[in-house]
Amino acid sequence: MLRRSEIELKTAGEVDAMREAGRVVARCLDAVRAAAAPRVSLKELDDVALDVLREAGAVPAFLDYHPHFAPSPFPGVICASVNDAVVHAIPGPHRLAPGDLLSIDCGAYLDGWCGDAAISLVVGDDPDPADVDLIATTERALAAGIAAAVPGHRLGDVGAAIGGVAREAGYGMLADHGGHGIGRAMHEAPHVPNEGRAGRGMKLRAGLVIAIEPMLHAGGRDDYRHDADGWTLRTADGSRAAHVEHTVAITDDGPRVLTLA
Ligand code: MG
Ligand code: MG
Repeated sequence: MLRRSEIELKTAGEVDAMREAGRVVARCLDAVRAAAAPRVSLKELDDVALDVLREAGAVPAFLDYHPHFAPSPFPGVICASVNDAVVHAIPGPHRLAPGDLLSIDCGAYLDGWCGDAAISLVVGDDPDPADVDLIATTERALAAGIAAAVPGHRLGDVGAAIGGVAREAGYGMLADHGGHGIGRAMHEAPHVPNEGRAGRGMKLRAGLVIAIEPMLHAGGRDDYRHDADGWTLRTADGSRAAHVEHTVAITDDGPRVLTLA
């Protein structure tokens, strides 16, 4: 159980500073999206991301990140998760093929503040309609979660909004993965579950900044496995997954999405 004292509220000026970090992350993801094409390798996408961050004077948040659950520091600037990979996949030599469902996650620090966002897309010009629907539903789940992130609501309202969209569409979700508080560190309290009960959980207050990140998959089993690299998380049933994320400030004027270009 998290104590309230562990939740750090940001001032309006600090949220403005986080907006600039978020803008750089959004520009990075735009560049990676534009570069994601058949025969391009995930490592090449990682290089594109690093160029954008360096140009902006930002510091990659994922590179060398070494949380307790991982066997080694993360070697990439982005996570590049293809098809049945849900999140945390290492951007290696794999070359994209037409029809690949690609999720890109990027985090960066600018002037000491962190932004964190993710997009999903289908490579090439002929996407499988099932992938298009999965991505659109994941984006709708994110939008519903963002809309619920207002003062006076509770964390359970955010989770209920996200989970409601996912379950109604019949998609699976990794129940123990979700979003997080964010600020000077990429991962701060509170944990932001992708499922919840409306009206339950911590009360949301202006100044709380959270990363909201639904990760949905086409199969019915909410089960997954790690690759031997200790990072890549895949659906256990091999079904394809989508992951989208924004960093969002809760303000008295409503949710403020910080990771827009
Ligand atoms: Mg992320
Ligand atoms: Mg995140």
